[in-house]
Amino acid sequence: MRRVFIVGAGQMGSGIAQVAAQAGREVTVRDVEQAFLDRGRKTIETSLARLVKRGSVTQEEADAALSRVRFSLDLEPARDADLCIEAIIERYEEKSALWRDIAAIAPEGAILASNTSSLPITRLATNVSHPERFVGMHFMNPVPVMQLVEVITGLATAEATTAAVEAEAAAYGKTTVRAKDFPGFVSNRVLMPLINEAVFTLYEGVASAEDIDTVMKLGMNHPMGPLQLADFIGLDTCLYILEVLHEGFGDPKYRPCPLLRQYVQAGYYGRKSGRGFYTY
Ligand code: NAD
Repeated sequence: MRRVFIVGAGQMGSGIAQVAAQAGREVTVRDVEQAFLDRGRKTIETSLARLVKRGSVTQEEADAALSRVRFSLDLEPARDADLCIEAIIERYEEKSALWRDIAAIAPEGAILASNTSSLPITRLATNVSHPERFVGMHFMNPVPVMQLVEVITGLATAEATTAAVEAEAAAYGKTTVRAKDFPGFVSNRVLMPLINEAVFTLYEGVASAEDIDTVMKLGMNHPMGPLQLADFIGLDTCLYILEVLHEGFGDPKYRPCPLLRQYVQAGYYGRKSGRGFYTY
């Protein structure tokens, strides 16, 4: 892969742009407003500066990586991309419209990858003319720090497509795991019921939020308790993913805890809104 086109300059898109540029790719990042592109650029600059300060990259390497990232308000750069990665808002309608537009102009051989955390890859792939070249490339947040990329194979994804994104993720210094396209893939299927059970434990008054997190940190060696992690991910996002699991499997074991639903209704989204299970 030489040219990587990334759509969405948010937390995930800017992180993916950074690691791709550090691996020597010519990157273009697209968003819908100049202010979002500026914010994405700032995020990359800050993150690279941190790496320079820590001594893990030189100033020259950081400058070179930044110079390989271009910012754009339109889709034209998809025309000569080897790999298109979509990291826009987690809404099926928005993603499907975008993929139809990208598929109309991207080269025949381009690999098309979505960073979705929960939407079915098989369904997203119905928007492109070559679903065998469509795949899930699920980076973890923050991208420059987290080691894992979950690679999701849709029903139509070709082996060559999967192998290509695995090699690409390895070039970014990441470790990949393959998952089939079922709700929550592996990461959120395992994580979200854990978070939901922690919320039920709080809801039923078994222990305080601090104590539930302490049990998991000191007792199970988790670096962060599940309620703290939920605040970090965003309670709205957790609720959304639990609903995907609940609906996708039709199994009541995934039903979101009423307390989680109430917090989201109150606008307690966690760290990003200043209040969740903890106050920030
Ligand atoms: P974000 O809100 O930080 O960024 C999304 C960006 O996409 C915004 O800048 C928005 O302006 C832009 N956007 C929306 N529609 C667009 C369009 N049509 N064209 C171009 N840009 C558009 O969100 P994020 O946290 O970066 O999440 C992006 C994707 O990554 C989602 O699918 C999410 O589920 C997934 N994801 C998120 C995390 C996480 O922890 N935040 C982890 C893994 C995967």
